[in-house]
Amino acid sequence: MRWSKTLIPTMKEVPADAEIPSHQLMLRAGLIRQVMAGAYTYLPLGWRALKKAEAIVRDEMEQADAVELFMPALQPISLFERTGRKEAFGNVLINFNVKRGDRKIHLALGPTHEEVVTDLMAHTINSYRQLPLTVFQIQTKFRNEERPRFGVLRTSEFLMKDAYSFGASLEQLDEVYQSMYRAYCRIFARCGLEYLPVEAESGPIGGDASHEFMVPSANGEDQIVRCPNCNYAANMERADTGRSASEITPDEDAPVYETQDTPKATSIEQVSKMLGCKPSGMIKTMIYLADEKPVAVLVRGDHEANEGKVRRALDAEQLELADVATIEKVTGAPVGFAGPVGIDCPVIADHDVAAIGRAVTGANAADQHHVGVVVGRDYTLETTHDLRDAGADDPCPKCDGTLELVHGIEVGHVFKLGTKYSVSLGAEFLDEKEKRHPLIMGCYGIGVNRIIASLAETRHDDGGLIWPLSVAPFEVLVIPLNIADEETMQVAERYYAELRAAGVDVLIDDRKARPGFKFKDADLIGIPLRVVIGGKGLKEGQVELKWRTADGPEKVPLETGVETVLQMLAQRKAEEAADVPD
Ligand code: ATP
Ligand code: MG
Repeated sequence: MRWSKTLIPTMKEVPADAEIPSHQLMLRAGLIRQVMAGAYTYLPLGWRALKKAEAIVRDEMEQADAVELFMPALQPISLFERTGRKEAFGNVLINFNVKRGDRKIHLALGPTHEEVVTDLMAHTINSYRQLPLTVFQIQTKFRNEERPRFGVLRTSEFLMKDAYSFGASLEQLDEVYQSMYRAYCRIFARCGLEYLPVEAESGPIGGDASHEFMVPSANGEDQIVRCPNCNYAANMERADTGRSASEITPDEDAPVYETQDTPKATSIEQVSKMLGCKPSGMIKTMIYLADEKPVAVLVRGDHEANEGKVRRALDAEQLELADVATIEKVTGAPVGFAGPVGIDCPVIADHDVAAIGRAVTGANAADQHHVGVVVGRDYTLETTHDLRDAGADDPCPKCDGTLELVHGIEVGHVFKLGTKYSVSLGAEFLDEKEKRHPLIMGCYGIGVNRIIASLAETRHDDGGLIWPLSVAPFEVLVIPLNIADEETMQVAERYYAELRAAGVDVLIDDRKARPGFKFKDADLIGIPLRVVIGGKGLKEGQVELKWRTADGPEKVPLETGVETVLQMLAQRKAEEAADVPD
């Protein structure tokens, strides 16, 4: 492609509304332009990179025996009503009425395709003999994100690879899951991303049933906990800690607790101010309904209860915060004054609660708190649990290391769904004995735009983007220094033609511009290999070759330069491939 004939609107200035490097660089390098919040046009460079990432994703899906199909973005709302996801998605689900003749039709734009694909299988799969089956598509998804931001990292319209597996047994599900996991590792490695598979909330199947693929990055929106000592990594919601149950031995010397007036102080912050106590010396008492039964959950005042952990500790299927009436019933007080002393429901506590000593808690009476509450004396616990989010400096649950907290960008997610959708949409198969069972499903998503944005976020320097060969919009950039010079252009055109004929993606900068200007743009758009033609070098029968990240150029003979470029590309490709796991 010729620079003069394409659209690469590079920008010198950093756009004011772009907060993070990837967003700034993708705008500045002319990859994308915003149409409105959450919707972007991909310009030729951005589109080429996206297409290359997409091709890698497709190739690995096919190698993992997934078959490609294509489902519509337009979907009937009735499918979402049948699975209960109209409510679950809420405002995120873009849906609207259209008129067709005198009928009104309620449509949704698919945020994912579990409903459509499960309904398809309900009508096409009958027998265990057709299983297992994995299908995928690469298609536009729509989500009315509360806060679209960071360029194409979080948009309301984005390109997702979504795959769905259907099996007759948990063993079949496990097998597909493993092969998808492996395909994901290969995809992200081939795209040149540093990635980290982390344990994520496991949903209905429980156990080790969901992994997110994260790109560690300071600007990532997700928080990950990892142990530098072993390979343990999990997202914040899921991460266990290696803390052990506290000993519950009452403080014998503690005086009787006092009850103090705390008018209208219902939050940890308000009480802490009013009584002059630290949140870490307070107990936060949250009333939940676990499978519809009330339970009081205690965490330290400066901690947050983790609902997944609470649910697992109680062995409950469902957990939700209790309604006002329930709270008033078990505490005998208005909301905001709950505490463990004399509460009328079971109590469970996080490990750190028992270690507080003399704690400040709600008094289960309006406008009152107790000061100096002692565990094992004023209220009892049989044991303690891991009920809060993990944090930096917590012990690792898998080894004797210490956890650290890192931020990450979620680029992919693999998930054992189980039978949630096949039950609600009646997708069943007949086993060998002609007995009906719901299909056992898994779903596997990759944000293709996020692959590109994560590369921009993690691979750049002060000058601009640094693409891996595999996803770079072009592999080689040919720069004739002076397009008015006939000999320069002759050589440049020959290189351009010969490299293209050899199957290389080449861009030639045939703009009438000064060399310094072209070099700045070359650094900004980050094409891996640069070929500079003209000036003194050309007179000496040489061209200059330079990798984007090399300190300086290498001069090679003009006559064999094309061959050298091909060799360099082949070697770099082999190096990139060596980083891809089997
Ligand atoms: P997030 O937690 O970031 O909102 P998610 O967990 O809701 O994402 P999934 O439903 O797991 O996303 O979708 C699969 C993949 O699609 C994600 O791993 C991510 O890479 C990508 N993705 C999800 N939402 C967006 C979005 N709004 N913009 C761009 N990519 C997205
Ligand atoms: Mg996800």
